[in-house]
Amino acid sequence: MAKKITLIGAGLTGPLLATYLANRGYTVDIYERRSDMRNTSINAGRSINLALSVRGIHALKEVGLFEKIDPMTIAMKGRMIHDLDGTTHLQRYGQKPEEVIYSVSRAKLNMELMTLAEETGKVNIHFNQKCIGMDLDEKMLSFFDKKSDNEKEIPFDLVMGVDGSASAVRDAMISKGNFNFEFKPLGHGYKELTIPPGENGDFQWEPNALHIWPRGLFMLIALPNIDRSFTCTLFFPMEGAVSFESVQKGKDIEGLFHEQFPDAFDLLPHIVDQFQQNPIGHLGSVYCDPWHVENKAVLLGDAAHAVVPFFGQGMNASFQDCSVLNNLMIKYPDNWEIILSEFSKQHVPNGHAIADMAVENYLEMRDHVNNPRYKKRRELELKMECMFPEKFTPRYSMVSFHQIPYANVYARGEEQYQLLDAILDKYELDDVNETIARNFIG
Ligand SMILES: Cc1cc2nc3c(=O)[nH]c(=O)nc-3n(C[C@H](O)[C@H](O)[C@H](O)COP(=O)(O)OP(=O)(O)OC[C@H]3O[C@@H](n4cnc5c(N)ncnc54)[C@H](O)[C@@H]3O)c2cc1C
Repeated sequence: MAKKITLIGAGLTGPLLATYLANRGYTVDIYERRSDMRNTSINAGRSINLALSVRGIHALKEVGLFEKIDPMTIAMKGRMIHDLDGTTHLQRYGQKPEEVIYSVSRAKLNMELMTLAEETGKVNIHFNQKCIGMDLDEKMLSFFDKKSDNEKEIPFDLVMGVDGSASAVRDAMISKGNFNFEFKPLGHGYKELTIPPGENGDFQWEPNALHIWPRGLFMLIALPNIDRSFTCTLFFPMEGAVSFESVQKGKDIEGLFHEQFPDAFDLLPHIVDQFQQNPIGHLGSVYCDPWHVENKAVLLGDAAHAVVPFFGQGMNASFQDCSVLNNLMIKYPDNWEIILSEFSKQHVPNGHAIADMAVENYLEMRDHVNNPRYKKRRELELKMECMFPEKFTPRYSMVSFHQIPYANVYARGEEQYQLLDAILDKYELDDVNETIARNFIG
């Protein structure tokens, strides 16, 4: 097979994957439907950020980009919970100083990844090219060229679909058959809002935390940006009595924020305008299996496993995909038949597991974090980790601070959950010591 690979999509996953491929000697063409964001001025008032953790950092280190990204990140050591009466309290993510996650600008990271890929000298990014179809038998891709307003066809040897949750490559793979696909809508959407720096130019809240306003059926979160603003995201039902459908008028928007998020309401300028002008994003999970067709096509990133954003893992999981594929490329040089089938075999269960865990974490974040039983369970799991560091690692830590495959994390997390509940059913938290716990852990 010619050492040329075609990628669809230059979002977060595409350029990273292209860099790995270039480093293995392949030349890569990426086709991206948008224009080059490096030539477009980004609206300074809206900075969108993401939480980066160990899986993503590992991949960025493998391609040599982390050192450049590191100064653009802000460490977040835990969840800062904002109660209705305005009091705040921090729930740490981990027990060790290095157990933090990092807020990073999506646009800056994406631009750095594109430049890094191009700097290999083996990657060409073609912008304004929307993939509109793929013929797997003829190995032909169809594009709409937004610059010339024309459709065109381009042959390929091997195509990698990194074109996000509504993947055109995946659609073509589905139509070929022998492919399981399910999209599970969450029923809740999101809206991003900005809190600018204060009058003194500084952050208006503690910057080294991910802020959460858990309100049962919905929640607001806020992540810090390096320009000292915060990006808030309201996660809210799409329909129903309290929902994006029912809250649209100025007075209802003000009422919602005033009642539910009073401390944020005071700092959100022009809340009605922001709310009415910013789009509603839809959320859902993609489950598909396998992720490849013969040695012709493969999906990575959101195209393979879009997940809801409540574990902060979509991008991290996507970056880990690239690292996993890279390891298979090293193990089976140029043998794409085996590389791709092993990729699906080994990694699809991990995509499904993080999709499930991410949905579960929505309930945890919007509701359980203030529940007394949750708090006791959390305290006990931290205690267990100190007593049995080799045997017990909290699920959040396994996901965010380790590289344990997600499917193993899910299974181990379930067992640990049962164990914590069994202990708490029998003992008061303060009474649990190593001897008692050992009886349960075995
Ligand atoms: C509100 C929100 C918050 C999130 N927060 C986090 C977080 O904190 N941490 C985290 O790890 N993840 C987070 N994520 C998930 C993360 O954004 C995604 O997992 C990540 O962007 C996946 O990268 P991707 O390249 O696979 O897809 P995308 O980033 O969606 O990129 C796909 C690219 O393909 C292009 N494309 C699409 N269709 C075509 C086509 N037909 N032809 C050509 N090009 C095409 C698109 O223009 C785009 O550039 C969040 C997601 C959301 C919605």
